[in-house]
Amino acid sequence: MARFIFVTGGVVSSLGKGLLSASLGALLQARGYKVRIRKFDPYLNVDPGTMSPYQHGEVYVTDDGAESDLDLGHYERFTGVSARQSDNITTGRIYRDIIARERRGDYLGATVQVIPHVTNAIKEFARADVDDVDFVICEIGGTVGDIESLPFVEALRQLRNDLGRDNTVSVHTTLVPWIKAAGELKTKPTQHSVREISSLGVQPDVLLCRCEKPIPQGDREKIALFCNVPASAVIQALDARSIYDVPLQYHSEGLDDEVLRAFRIDDAPAPDLSRWHDIMDRLDHPEGEVTIGVVGKYVGLPDAYKSLNEALVHGGLANRTKVNIRWLDAELFERGDESLAAELEPLHGILVPGGFGERGSEGKIASVRFAKERGVPFFGICLGMQMACIEGARASGIEQASSTEFGPTPEPVIGLITEWMGKEGLQERAADGDLGGTMRLGAYEAELGHNSRVASAYGSTQISERHRHRYEVNTHYKDALEKDGLIFSGMSPDGRLPEIVERPDHPWFIGVQFHPELKSRPFEPHPLFAGFIGAALEQSRLV
Ligand code: GLN
Repeated sequence: MARFIFVTGGVVSSLGKGLLSASLGALLQARGYKVRIRKFDPYLNVDPGTMSPYQHGEVYVTDDGAESDLDLGHYERFTGVSARQSDNITTGRIYRDIIARERRGDYLGATVQVIPHVTNAIKEFARADVDDVDFVICEIGGTVGDIESLPFVEALRQLRNDLGRDNTVSVHTTLVPWIKAAGELKTKPTQHSVREISSLGVQPDVLLCRCEKPIPQGDREKIALFCNVPASAVIQALDARSIYDVPLQYHSEGLDDEVLRAFRIDDAPAPDLSRWHDIMDRLDHPEGEVTIGVVGKYVGLPDAYKSLNEALVHGGLANRTKVNIRWLDAELFERGDESLAAELEPLHGILVPGGFGERGSEGKIASVRFAKERGVPFFGICLGMQMACIEGARASGIEQASSTEFGPTPEPVIGLITEWMGKEGLQERAADGDLGGTMRLGAYEAELGHNSRVASAYGSTQISERHRHRYEVNTHYKDALEKDGLIFSGMSPDGRLPEIVERPDHPWFIGVQFHPELKSRPFEPHPLFAGFIGAALEQSRLV
């Protein structure tokens, strides 16, 4: 039977529970265990799909088409285990399902209540589909004490009884702040937070204490005494220099040892952390350096492009190259060519990422044109590919080329897709249907042209990549685009949807309708990101 590790957080949000869960998963995996990591989100949205990136950061898409929390991206990158629809649940989804059941009459006249109906649903979700793993790590979003996270903590309390104490461990994350004026670290917030979660019936076994300065032994003992844990279970978590150093750091602080001790497992194999050391060696000793400009809309919040940021780092790992990312607001490029050239000239690669809506689109199109004309490596992702096609169509004389996403247009080079072939057969959407969960989502296959640059990058002509889009390049414009040197080098298997465009006469110019950044991992950098950074490295030697 799988053992369960519950990760909660107290004091403040943003303490890095996601990275903690991912790192703990990686450490257990390094000892030969099979792990699965799940995220419980207490908000009322059914999923984050309709939320603004400014609210929630990136929406992470799984192979099976879930629009999910960005922490699932950390889980995948750190463990290599592909996340599934069943790895992220929200209060909204639980209530939606319960209310649907109630309307069907499934509760046979019972009064439907938070306890037991909501807590049962949370417990079922935690336990479903985990027969083949040794450890399930369940991260509870939010901060203990929030009204909306109460049912989750209650479900956790019940699960500890249902599964038995030896089969569950609770890891609680807190903050040990440094008070400059007093010149001291303060343990009181941790004491309060542990009191809060204990009053809900959950006694933590291990405390992960985020701190800016090392926690002296005396303070650890004080925390241990007040919080009812052994001093060795008070793990100090200093800020890390890279997220890829976190597993190594937490291991040297004893996190995985303490978790195993709490489970009373004393025969665990020693971890093999060589691949993590290799990554840190590559990060610490780069042989080249490039600067990539990302021309987007949500550039004020790097979380909005979390996976993209990581995939660029992975491309750097593949080339032993340090990647500096310059986040550029596309709207600023709509003021004229001078500011555009001043910003873009020093770059070794230009990337236009995914996005929604018209704002900034002309700035993105201008950036595509700059990359095309100056021979700068260009990577367009989803909306970025669509902008590359609009640019190509305009350059071949279709001046009014646009996307129907931005309003009615006489030249819909990019248009709404209302039907496509999925694994379950034909998928159909109404133009005025719901926005939530209705895009072309998840893994779809594509066939690549035999002599294309993408086929040689992938080393294959058959690929599968994750999608999240509503609009698509209109194949009626194929000839016009080819006239400008832009060819379709990847298509959906039925030949109807362009998946990849490239410019054979350019040093490196590729646009993809999918999101390759979602599948890139530090141990397996995505071939297109490896290729893009490789091309940027060449460019850095030219300028
Ligand atoms: N807005 C575009 C579409 O829906 C692109 C989406 C994206 O970049 N993820 O097709």
